[in-house]
Formats: sequence, C-alpha cells, structure tokens
Amino acid sequence: MQCQQCEENQFTKAGHDRVGRQLYCCSACGRRQTPRSASAFRGYRFPDDVIALAVRWYLRFRLPYADIVELLAERGVHVDPSSVFDWVQRFTPLYKDAARPHRHRVGTCWAVDETYIRLAGHWVYAYRAIDEHGQVIDVYLSETRDTAAATAFFEQAIARTDVRPQRVTTDKAAAYPPALRAVVPEAEHNTGKAEQQAIERDHQHLKRAHAEYAGVPATWVCAGRVQRARLRAQPAGRLLPSGRTNR
Ligand SMILES: [Zn+2]
Repeated sequence: MQCQQCEENQFTKAGHDRVGRQLYCCSACGRRQTPRSASAFRGYRFPDDVIALAVRWYLRFRLPYADIVELLAERGVHVDPSSVFDWVQRFTPLYKDAARPHRHRVGTCWAVDETYIRLAGHWVYAYRAIDEHGQVIDVYLSETRDTAAATAFFEQAIARTDVRPQRVTTDKAAAYPPALRAVVPEAEHNTGKAEQQAIERDHQHLKRAHAEYAGVPATWVCAGRVQRARLRAQPAGRLLPSGRTNR
C-alpha cells in the first residue's frame, strides 16, 4: 500500500471508516486511507465484489438492471437500479482495458460480413470481421453497402491491428472481390457457407445488443426467440400437426 498523497509506504492503524473498513494513517503526511483508496472502487459504498459481480452479469449475460437488482437482493444486497447503471457506466471501460492484454493476437483467417442494424434511430450497415479464435477484429459502420464501404473496412481493420489476413471468408456479395483485390490482393478469398455461419451467428449477439440500446425488445431481432414467443402465443390447438384439429 502506498500513500495517495505522498507515496510513503509506512502506515499505522487508525480506526475504521463508516462502513467498517480498516483505516491506515500515513506516517509521513498523516492522511488516513484504506487499501481501497488507490483502486477504482474508491468512494463507492458497496463492496468491490458486489460491484464487480453486477457489472460482469450485465456485460456477460446482458441482463436488464432490474434483473441484476433482483439477483443481488436474493443474495441479501439491496441496491437501486440507478446504482447498477452508474457502476456499469464507470467500470465497463475499465473491464475492457483489463481484458485487452488477455486477448489472442489477431489471427490471419478472417471471416467478414455485414449486417443491417439500427443505431440511435438510423439504419446502418455494420461491417465486421472475426478471426479464427472467434475474436472480433474490427467493426465499421457505413450508410452504404458497396465496394467503397468494404474497402474502407479492410483498410481500417489492417491499420488498427497491423495484421494482414492470409485468408478471408465472405458471403457472395459482389462488393468483396474488388475490395480485397484493392487492399489485400495476396489473401485467399473463400465464400464457403460453413465458415460464414460462424460470423452470422456472432451477428445475432450484435443485433441483440444494439436492439437493447435502441429500446427495441431483443425478441424482435433474435429470430429463434421470436419463434418461441409465437409458439407461446398460439392457442394449443394450432400447434397440432396440419390435418388434425383440437376437438
Ligand atoms: Zn502520506
């Protein structure tokens, strides 16, 4: 532990703060602090573990704030949804920074696709690539879906990662071959269905996430869920195979 004020590291115990944490007094400048004073959790009333867990649930499972509040309440922690919102705003960038060094180095087999998403009221094409480890390499938003957009996407992805793909898988869209010839002529270009499926599955997460930000229920864009919701809404008789009735 190091003093926040003078960088001294000699301390004596100095009672407890209002939530019972041990306080230490700096022997050089007399400033009182806890071991948490130097951390990002400084100033928060709730324990670090509770905040970290709530933010993880939000990022990992995309739970609504109300669900996180309920899960914490089941564990005896009573917190307002606005606090969870504050934690997510504050700690998400820190989680990203902490996770970055643990990423794989960007691979050289890229699967690229574009999807149409609604972002802050505008419909845009989101170009994105994932590598053979399933990591998202880069994302590029464009109002058009053409060779210029695909070219800009590849230029940006290569500039940001400093990696040139050796193999690129795309769908059969006409925009890709000229874009690849212009930016990475040496890369092998595949339009295989199997490779393409991985990134299309990945898009479902993106669409779901963006729908939540835009206030659209996730079920509207996640096809599998729509199907299930429809099944639930059907009267029982309609679920019987065709040709049979529910008499
Ligand atoms: Zn000090």
